[in-house]
Amino acid sequence: MKSPVRPSPPPDAAARRAAPPVVTYAVERLPAYDAAFYEAAREGMVKVDEAIAAPRDAAHFRVPAGHFFRIVSIEGPQVGDLDLWNAADPNEHFWSGKTRALAATHVGVGDRLWSNLPGLRPLATITHDTLGWYGFDDDGAGVHDVIGTRCDPYTNRLLSGDDYHRCCHSNLTRAFARATGRSLAEAEPFVHDVLNVFMCTGFTADTHRYFMKASPVRPGDFLELFAEIDLIGAISACPGGDCSASHSSDVAVCHPLAIEIFRPRAEALAGWRPAAVNPYPRSHGA
Ligand SMILES: [Zn+2]
Repeated sequence: MKSPVRPSPPPDAAARRAAPPVVTYAVERLPAYDAAFYEAAREGMVKVDEAIAAPRDAAHFRVPAGHFFRIVSIEGPQVGDLDLWNAADPNEHFWSGKTRALAATHVGVGDRLWSNLPGLRPLATITHDTLGWYGFDDDGAGVHDVIGTRCDPYTNRLLSGDDYHRCCHSNLTRAFARATGRSLAEAEPFVHDVLNVFMCTGFTADTHRYFMKASPVRPGDFLELFAEIDLIGAISACPGGDCSASHSSDVAVCHPLAIEIFRPRAEALAGWRPAAVNPYPRSHGA
């Protein structure tokens, strides 16, 4: 916690505080979300695979480039922690921090999930969200945040002194190990900050601390994404359940999550190409 002692403000404090905010990244040069393309591609798509993430566990899945995938609430309110990797080289993976900087604290239809450096390309694009009606509530909370990192046993040990093995970090580690044939020790460094699917979060108005509240998700709700390259994914059904009270324990009521993979009609992808890596030459001024 911060110290309550604050230095006295300078005489021009009000003027300094009155500087106008400027959105940090000018994203107008990014290609606009092509709603017509994605909506046309969704028409007539066929479900080709599915997986279930059991409560307090994670499922892994593969999505070929140009396919859609959905994370679906099936039995009750449940938050999911999503990791994505380039299937050809999992050192390239989802980067929640830059996605937050380019999009917002919470993501929705039209937002892209960007990869880490040096790839920095869209791994997936959000194409449908049945919770898109939620927006931001009176507490300033929204759904699908790219703020939180994932619950993990190290932070839990730090804060509680206990060991808990069903945190999303551990669930994702086991899922990635299963997906790629790696040992747990080899798999763990590939696990990264997540997209908090269905989680309802914000910052408190007074101290700007990260908070969570009961997810508005209900069975039948889903978040749908389009794979811009070949992907490996893993989704953890967080031990926090709907994250209304606690996590990192067996206290919360938890439910499974479904993952569904859809193949569009071949002609719907005419002219489409998988996303290319960032063209910066990596010379860094040398
Ligand atoms: Zn979690």
